[in-house]
Amino acid sequence: MTISRRQFLSSLAATFAASGLGITDLGTLYAATGTSTGKGYTDAHCHLVDFLQQTQGIKALLHQADLAGVDHIQIMGLPVIKKWNAANRRRPRYYLENTDRCYYYTLTDTIVARQVQSLSEQDQSRVHPFICGFNPTDKNGVHHIERMLEWFPGMWQGIGELLLHRSELSMLTEGEQARANHPSLFPVYELAGRENLPVQIHSDAGSKGLQEPIYLYEMEEAVASFPKVRFIWCHAGYNRQLVIPSIVDDLTRLVESYDNLWIDLSWGVFEEWVCPEKQMSEAWKTLLTGHPQRFFIGSDKIGNFDQYGAAIRKYDLLFSQLPPLVAGQIARTNFLDLINLSTEARG
Ligand SMILES: [Zn+2]
Repeated sequence: MTISRRQFLSSLAATFAASGLGITDLGTLYAATGTSTGKGYTDAHCHLVDFLQQTQGIKALLHQADLAGVDHIQIMGLPVIKKWNAANRRRPRYYLENTDRCYYYTLTDTIVARQVQSLSEQDQSRVHPFICGFNPTDKNGVHHIERMLEWFPGMWQGIGELLLHRSELSMLTEGEQARANHPSLFPVYELAGRENLPVQIHSDAGSKGLQEPIYLYEMEEAVASFPKVRFIWCHAGYNRQLVIPSIVDDLTRLVESYDNLWIDLSWGVFEEWVCPEKQMSEAWKTLLTGHPQRFFIGSDKIGNFDQYGAAIRKYDLLFSQLPPLVAGQIARTNFLDLINLSTEARG
């Protein structure tokens, strides 16, 4: 029997109702029925394509997800493509490979939608596609989102990953600097509030060498100004070589001040900030156990899924050091709760 995504989500909601537990108690259900590190992970951050908009395909992704014990995956394209300048004989593979610029590439969402449509209904219920293919400094962006919602009804479950402050990628991307409090994003946030779509943002908390969260206020202004929008801050504001000694205090203040903010622990934030030297930082442990419903994990793979298992099971190290209930929430249920709320609200 195959079931649609909506049927799956309503059956999940029915399970909650029958259990008499609040929706945020799903972690309890999983903790009671599974191990803290076993099957059933939820990958809350995965790009179906690379910076050339190429992919091994969604079926390859799901195959690797099965091997890694991942049930649910958030998927998206990448909002930019790396230009292949004619001066280069070889096609680039990564945005950092040379100084050629990147530009916004809206077809990325259609690539994702076509890949999703190639799946059986049952497999479609495992993937949670987000819209990202627009220039976040252009007020036309909201119209792209409206078009995607119209063209692929019932497909989309969020907006993102928006690439805003992003170190070298910002320097290599054509046009003005994107930022979370840019007026061009206000109509996007208004739409997200209306449609109850979470918005996932990559915005570095600061800049290399300064050791201060100089861009944090941009993210905070967006979160504070649009309380109906559920924001996901990717990588907790981390980027390569970014050192911000106050970051745990900053994040603690934010999650305690705003109940519409979630934090994604994908990419290098895990190795460099949360578990440096494969040892969990005590400050991070206090933050995660104090606010266990506000964090996700993610593979952050881009188009190639050969190393998918390693990218998602690296978090076993984290879960082995957290109470099982907290591990279950971060590993599996927090992201599903967020998606379930979106779908329920849209009916
Ligand atoms: Zn990403």
